[in-house]
Amino acid sequence: MNFDLSNEQVIWKKIAHEFVEKELRPKAREVDEKEEFNWEAVRKGGPVGLLGMSIPEEYGGSNVDAISNAIAMEELGWGCGSTALAFTAHNGLGTAPIALYGTEELKKQWLPLVANGKNKLGALALTEPGAGSDIQGGVITKAEKQGDEWVINGAKMWCTNAGIAEYIITLVRTDSRGGSKSLSMILVPTDSKGLKIGPAEKKMGLRGSPAHGVIYDNVRVPLGNLVGAEGRGLQQTLTTLDAGRISIGAISVGLAQAAMDAAVNYARERKAFGQVISEFQAIQFKLSNMAMEIELARTMIYKTAWLKDQGRPYNKEAAIAKLYATEMAERVCYEAIQIHGGYGYSREYNVERMYRDARLMTIGEGTSEIQRLVIARHVLASE
Ligand SMILES: Cc1cc2nc3c(=O)[nH]c(=O)nc-3n(C[C@H](O)[C@H](O)[C@H](O)COP(=O)(O)OP(=O)(O)OC[C@H]3O[C@@H](n4cnc5c(N)ncnc54)[C@H](O)[C@@H]3O)c2cc1C
Repeated sequence: MNFDLSNEQVIWKKIAHEFVEKELRPKAREVDEKEEFNWEAVRKGGPVGLLGMSIPEEYGGSNVDAISNAIAMEELGWGCGSTALAFTAHNGLGTAPIALYGTEELKKQWLPLVANGKNKLGALALTEPGAGSDIQGGVITKAEKQGDEWVINGAKMWCTNAGIAEYIITLVRTDSRGGSKSLSMILVPTDSKGLKIGPAEKKMGLRGSPAHGVIYDNVRVPLGNLVGAEGRGLQQTLTTLDAGRISIGAISVGLAQAAMDAAVNYARERKAFGQVISEFQAIQFKLSNMAMEIELARTMIYKTAWLKDQGRPYNKEAAIAKLYATEMAERVCYEAIQIHGGYGYSREYNVERMYRDARLMTIGEGTSEIQRLVIARHVLASE
């Protein structure tokens, strides 16, 4: 494995960094405080390629490799956790399943629309009020064939971007007998009759990234809106989540790096007992541990993305990368607040927001407990 970034990846990193520094970072506090989505980032991010990272060029995307996707997600996370989450929910969850499994008609109809930044985004609804980790057994939203339509009834929960989406790819039960071949993905346009999107949930962090409950009351969509094969919804979901875990890990590295940067700056300026606190070994050791953990997480993210780019299996590595990077981000943000002392607890300082934003990362796209189950399965199978 070669850790050097290619010239294209180096240029891409620079483009993403400059975009984030200009469009996300200055507005991060405002989107959190006002609980407003940063639409400007979407408008300007489309032409840069940040909305089409999973979309082939022929459908208007930038179709970047997995390492470049991780690079962009880290930069976005460094700039603003909320906007980064909305972007990854769009790229990794809302567009990747169509690009990977959708029919030519679906790709042509929807992908160019959501890649250019002029319209709304994509979303994926897996979680339900009664089931998140246990998708296979717990999903009760169902779709039945009637003539040339699917009729969908049920409810979803925590759907990121639902209120700012053109469509919601919805995981539904298409075979009431259950089992691993009873789920399917169906694309539901958000202007469908009978689709009710609830208000944005009031969250601890990531307040500029709207997540909604969604109700499907006899929603009718054409049979052609099936994404992938009927009965393959579970397998398609697991593949989608493997890739998504690299992105959530990368956002976590970005959040941790931003908290570390703030802590370093603060430690160089703040004085106690007649010297700057960066001269205390206790503070230096905290910074050393933070730097070490960030570097380890970033390396694991790159390794996992590299495996994906090679077309090799990466299920275990994605779980390790997500688990380590997300729990690492919490530890780093915690220490960044500690280094800021009382001011770290104030909303005047950004580390407070980063700490709240990082908290979701160990829950979304598979909790830490589920990552440990995945890793244990591999370890016990003694590959
Ligand atoms: C801000 C936000 C955005 C989100 N965005 C989306 C989205 O866009 N689309 C979407 O579909 N979902 C989304 N989610 C939902 C998220 O993926 C789920 O919350 C997550 O998968 C956990 O599911 P749950 O909340 O139902 O918890 P549960 O599955 O009920 O789990 C509760 C607790 O039990 C533990 N647990 C469950 N099963 C096991 C087990 N077998 N062994 C050990 N422990 C176990 C869990 O780890 C957790 O600690 C989002 C959630 C949030 C908070």
